[in-house]
Amino acid sequence: MSEDNRVLIAGGGPIGYTTAINLAKYGIPFTLFEAGSGISEDPRAATIHPPTLEMFETIGLTPIFLKRGFVTQNYHYRDRRQGLIADFNLGVLKNDTPFPYRVMLEQHKISNIILDNLSEFNNHKILNNHSVQSVRQDDEGVVAIVNTPDGTREFRGRYIVGCDGGRSNVRKAMNVDFEGFEFEERFLVVSTPYDFAQHGYAITNYIADPEEWCALFCVKGPDDNGLWRVVFPNDSTFSEEEIFDDETIEKRLQGFQPRSEPYEIIHRNLYHVHQRVANKYREGRVIIAGDAAHINNPLGGMGMNFGFHDAFNLTEKLNQIWFNNGSEDLLDLYERQRKTVASEYLQAQSIENKKNLERKNQNEREEFFNELRAITSDDEKQRKYLRRVAMIEGIERAKSIA
Ligand SMILES: Cc1cc2nc3c(=O)[nH]c(=O)nc-3n(C[C@H](O)[C@H](O)[C@H](O)COP(=O)(O)OP(=O)(O)OC[C@H]3O[C@@H](n4cnc5c(N)ncnc54)[C@H](O)[C@@H]3O)c2cc1C
Repeated sequence: MSEDNRVLIAGGGPIGYTTAINLAKYGIPFTLFEAGSGISEDPRAATIHPPTLEMFETIGLTPIFLKRGFVTQNYHYRDRRQGLIADFNLGVLKNDTPFPYRVMLEQHKISNIILDNLSEFNNHKILNNHSVQSVRQDDEGVVAIVNTPDGTREFRGRYIVGCDGGRSNVRKAMNVDFEGFEFEERFLVVSTPYDFAQHGYAITNYIADPEEWCALFCVKGPDDNGLWRVVFPNDSTFSEEEIFDDETIEKRLQGFQPRSEPYEIIHRNLYHVHQRVANKYREGRVIIAGDAAHINNPLGGMGMNFGFHDAFNLTEKLNQIWFNNGSEDLLDLYERQRKTVASEYLQAQSIENKKNLERKNQNEREEFFNELRAITSDDEKQRKYLRRVAMIEGIERAKSIA
């Protein structure tokens, strides 16, 4: 097999690794370039939705995810003043999916599980400290221009998949627009081992408030004993130093859930939040997936899941092209299917999730809470609602696009 006859993958985040394991399973050689020294442990995504569990089941990884993460059937919608508004039960999806629950598993653990599984396969290379700067292409293939520890080098392949995140150089090389907007506020994520379950919180909670909404969820953490993450919005007038100040964080947490002891803080991270979708996912032999193609606010836990769905969709088509004489038009189909649902579902739902949490008008808030109460008190209504937010509808919609 010629060195050039392979897929190049830019980026060793969860979507790069998911692309990699699927290619390995299909028997397609690849080289993955990661700019950092290994898998980043940044505390970001942790929610895995039912259709994603179905996809990973096809490559044998779901049982590992279930074992390593928290399996949770319920999530709470709350109000900071009124407490519990609606207790959603994914169990109503039992006839829609074999996995009617969410799994909470940190994204770096998902990537590491995939990396371990890749050791069963040959014919691939994973090159850390290799940053893809640019890409060019001709009729035979692509050339990635890569900064390596030994200087700039060129690597050839048949296709390149840009999984290099929101600031993707691969997307920039395709010269496409990344249309959308940035929210004014940034999101602070604080993690603490303090056990919020003793106050009646579920593993995942969305907590509305006209002044300071928050999201609270629990992951297993580094020692598997449980680590709670709290997400707060931050006014753009405050500096990072002010937001990260120990006393300010303590006051915010005490304001959210008062306790006699101070909170122990493990992480504090601040994120800019955008809503954007690339206007093209494919330019010849250059294709993008995951955050390189779409970014959104994290409320609802959908961004990474959407990227996983991209990776499964794309690699299935690359397999058709590679081994079964499939036409490269399949790559346009990938774009049509995944870009359409990114706009119709990912962007629409995540923007709506944020709007609902921060709603200021009291009557509108009450109306919305009553709607949620009505949904959770009727199994069929709840099923219909959860099919959308648990991402089942998005997958079905993508499949329906020819
Ligand atoms: C606070 C927060 C919470 C979130 N929670 C959830 C959640 O619960 N559920 C969910 O589905 N999503 C969630 N998300 C979104 C999720 O984190 C992203 O969608 C996900 O990380 C996208 O994965 P990716 O592999 O596409 O990109 P990334 O995770 O950004 O990975 C890109 C990788 O590419 C590397 N790279 C970058 N440039 C280059 C280059 N030029 N060459 C080579 N390598 C490069 C980077 O070092 C990185 O390793 C959350 C995001 C945030 C910020």
